[in-house]
Amino acid sequence: MREASFETRLREYIDAQVPIIYIDSFDDNKVDDMILNVTGKRVVWEWNEMDGCINRKKIENGRVTSIFESVNADWTLSELLKYGVKEEELDRKILIVKDIYSYLEDSKLVALLKNACLKIEEGRLETTFIFISPVVKIPKELEKYMVLLEEDFLKEEEIREVVSEFLEECSLGSLHEKLMDEIVVAFKGLSNLEIETILALDLSSRGTIDRETIHLIIEQKQQMIRKAGILEMIPVNEGLEDIGGLENLKNWLQKKAVILKDMAKAKKFGVELPKGVLIAGVPGCGKSLNAKASAKLFEVPLLKLDMGRIMGKYVGESEENLRHAIALAEAIAPCVLWVDELEKAFAGIGGNGGGAEVTTRLFGQFLTWMQEKKSAVFVVATANDIMKLPPELMRKGRFDEIFYVKLPTREERRKIFEIHIGKRRPDDLKDINIDKLVSETEGYSGADIEGIVKGGVESAYVNKKSNVETEDIIEAIESTHSLSEVMEKEIYEMERAYKEKKFKCASDE
Ligand code: ATP
Repeated sequence: MREASFETRLREYIDAQVPIIYIDSFDDNKVDDMILNVTGKRVVWEWNEMDGCINRKKIENGRVTSIFESVNADWTLSELLKYGVKEEELDRKILIVKDIYSYLEDSKLVALLKNACLKIEEGRLETTFIFISPVVKIPKELEKYMVLLEEDFLKEEEIREVVSEFLEECSLGSLHEKLMDEIVVAFKGLSNLEIETILALDLSSRGTIDRETIHLIIEQKQQMIRKAGILEMIPVNEGLEDIGGLENLKNWLQKKAVILKDMAKAKKFGVELPKGVLIAGVPGCGKSLNAKASAKLFEVPLLKLDMGRIMGKYVGESEENLRHAIALAEAIAPCVLWVDELEKAFAGIGGNGGGAEVTTRLFGQFLTWMQEKKSAVFVVATANDIMKLPPELMRKGRFDEIFYVKLPTREERRKIFEIHIGKRRPDDLKDINIDKLVSETEGYSGADIEGIVKGGVESAYVNKKSNVETEDIIEAIESTHSLSEVMEKEIYEMERAYKEKKFKCASDE
């Protein structure tokens, strides 16, 4: 997905005379250095709220050095743009603008920028604006003059370097190789600055960097991912043993686990890296459970992508959010990326209007990524109603397999009862007539059964009984409406459509 490095892409955009390059980053210093590096002998000015307009570069005897020399401390950004364009002061210059996003709500400033971009396009002005901001906000008027550039996530060798440098600076000596490897993996997906911050935090609070640091890293990483707001790192407790039935799906996942657990060996043998699975079907029948269990089975982190949060207010923001989420997942890989409620995410594709256009673009972006994906990000997409999904998603080459889950069979209900009673009242299990419970729950979902067991256990407790008995659970069944009662027609229609499309059934029928 990211062939060219950040620096190369930046250089290419500058060479291509793109009027505005919007860099999504909060590590200003790192980006500054890079800009000075790739701009060769071109003059670089900067504008920021504090210092006004500054000259950032000195060239002496062909050598480029970074400086911070005031050009005009009083200029507002508007004044600089007005004056700079009119008097051609900005001609043949690069202008870095920091924290631009709050200014992009000002329509007058946007108009000034647009005017400058028009001149650049016509070849009457040779300026490149480089916006650096951790918040992406692109006004529609400027969209066509702008490219978005996002920082690369660090590669493992680079993370190792950052950690080693930190240890050296703090005279901490080197770490045991295995511990270093684990720390590096834990830091995947974080920026230079974030890594240094976490290490400094740990050092100041505990006075050392050791195995415990990994816990802090994971904790902080979860927080950072949560703050970014698009992906969520989900703690995984459920395993395949917590799923009753769905044997076909579980067997399939187990085969993929063999590959994912030793990818290098599998690749060498000629095996393709698994892309992922789409699990569709009636609510409450174990789709989410399978997403979680697969992460546990593969022994990798579980990231949940909330498509609702991907949708941004500004032009290009949604696409950038998705790109960011994908890049983050790739940086954290190997991992499971769980895309929940896929049909909601891509509803309205191909329709008219701004919202539908964005959805269609996002969908295309997601499909291309799935198609070309070379990273160890295993996608588990879950959907209630697959029929609402565009057919392209179901074509070969996207997901490795599509499974549908239906209401549990008799045998599956037995296992689900055993699991949920076993979790709460393991000693009562042998005396409970599971056969009877199974016979009474035709048309009930896994979630219904879990609710029934909870209800039965609660009522036995409230009635001051020492054990949970069959009758307690039967009573709970009687007071619960089954899923098939609630949505009989939809379930029937769904199953018919899945069979017609020849999707695999998750259960061993
Ligand atoms: P939704 O489409 O509503 O998100 P889902 O298919 O993802 O539903 P889950 O969240 O996996 O359903 O299931 C809800 C709960 O029901 C689970 O937490 C689990 O406790 C129970 N459950 C569902 N199916 C099974 C199953 N096959 N085995 C054990 N428990 C199950």
